[in-house]
Amino acid sequence: MATKAKPPKAHKDPDTDHGPEAVEHAKEAALAKGTPKPGQRAEVSNLDIVRYYFDRATERLGIPEDIRVVFWEPYREVTVQIPIKLTDGKTHVYSGYRIQHNGARGPYKGGIRFHPEVDVDEVRALASLMTWKTAVANVPFGGAKGGINCPADELEQSELQAIARSFMDKIEKVLGPTRDIPAPDVNTNAQVMAWMMDEYGKLHGHTPAICTGKPIALEGSRGREQATGRGCIYMFREAAPQLGLNPAETTFVIQGFGNVGSWAARILQQLGAKMIGVSDATGAITSEAGIDAEALAAHIHADGGKLTEFAGVEVISPDDLLALDCDVLIPAALGGMIHEGNADRISCKMLIEGANSPTTPAADEVLEGKGVYVIPDVMANAGGVVASYFEWVQNLQHFQWSEREVNDKLGGIMRKAYRNVAGRAKEEKINLRDASYLVGIERVVEASRTRGYIS
Ligand code: NAD
Repeated sequence: MATKAKPPKAHKDPDTDHGPEAVEHAKEAALAKGTPKPGQRAEVSNLDIVRYYFDRATERLGIPEDIRVVFWEPYREVTVQIPIKLTDGKTHVYSGYRIQHNGARGPYKGGIRFHPEVDVDEVRALASLMTWKTAVANVPFGGAKGGINCPADELEQSELQAIARSFMDKIEKVLGPTRDIPAPDVNTNAQVMAWMMDEYGKLHGHTPAICTGKPIALEGSRGREQATGRGCIYMFREAAPQLGLNPAETTFVIQGFGNVGSWAARILQQLGAKMIGVSDATGAITSEAGIDAEALAAHIHADGGKLTEFAGVEVISPDDLLALDCDVLIPAALGGMIHEGNADRISCKMLIEGANSPTTPAADEVLEGKGVYVIPDVMANAGGVVASYFEWVQNLQHFQWSEREVNDKLGGIMRKAYRNVAGRAKEEKINLRDASYLVGIERVVEASRTRGYIS
């Protein structure tokens, strides 16, 4: 186990650091190599993206350099080796990361991702995003993230279980219900959380509050599975009147029909809106007449069907999906998928970031120029961590709330976060992304000062 406690350096060298100059540098390098091909992710990393917005906000807030560097790097980083004998008879070695960015406002909180592209920089980015997100939503947590660079799509359940248990064994010392509480993310789900809780329980006794997003039968919370998608739609409902959008006449497109995307689609459809395009890792489809989100979810998630084999739709390229003329676009796949190479083709009125860091800073500028109303990840997809907070509270009390209670409380918190950020944006004449970073960073800096972590 490798832990890191050295004080971070201020960024100076664009070749080795990730400040705004480095973002420019990365953009130039990406351009030199040619812009990403259709469907490819951007050349600018998630870490560059998060730090770019962090820098803009700290400059605006006038936070001095010596304080700024405290939040530039994570508090603790743990990297572990996970050797697993797979059914091919060979031992494969994966890397697992748990990164705790800042815990001034409460225990660290953040999901665990299983994906071959996971690396330490991506996990760092997602951990700091969690710090700002929990602060914007005003739930009493800090920010963390975890990941393992395994090809989850190709692994059997028994192999995933072995990886999840081995990871928990190796990081349990930095976790705990009052220390750090993982949750699901890309390619992890309630089952993975159940294995991890069970593994933690072998060492510490039954501890449901060690992770959230668990199955209902193991003290998971009603409404948690749907919460991130539902939270996106609470945001839509807040913003729609301003853009003159009537839900019953709204058309929408989803990039990434997984947990977040499929629930956002189903809930928006319940309001009368029509899904005219959708994608996942296997491809993209469209239909002017509309694609039934419930039927598509059943086709993929219950029947194990392929998205591109859904009846009555036209298969299109992933980049053509982004160019569909619609009212609302919800990227709900991976980071960096909306970049300089495809932003100009986007034709929506509102973009709700269900995924983390789906939009690069360069693409953000293009979207702003086109007048697209962007609801940023740091507030738009906070519904998951808010419902995780409710699950944690229920677990600490060994008490279960009804789904209606969870949804109502979630709506209250999401609306409050939107109004707070939108009010700040209006006051300072800035967009929602910049305003949400201001709100989040201010709260974290205040908590860090008040408890004496910084002076
Ligand atoms: P998931 O694994 O359930 O779904 C991801 C979906 O994206 C899958 O349908 C996958 O096929 C699709 N996908 C992958 N590569 C793609 C590509 N190149 N083009 C189109 N689709 C592609 O994961 P999830 O939990 O729904 O998470 C999605 C995003 O939302 C991630 O960025 C995650 O960090 C973020 N997020 C998730 C939660 C949560 O509660 N699950 C909370 C906040 C943010």
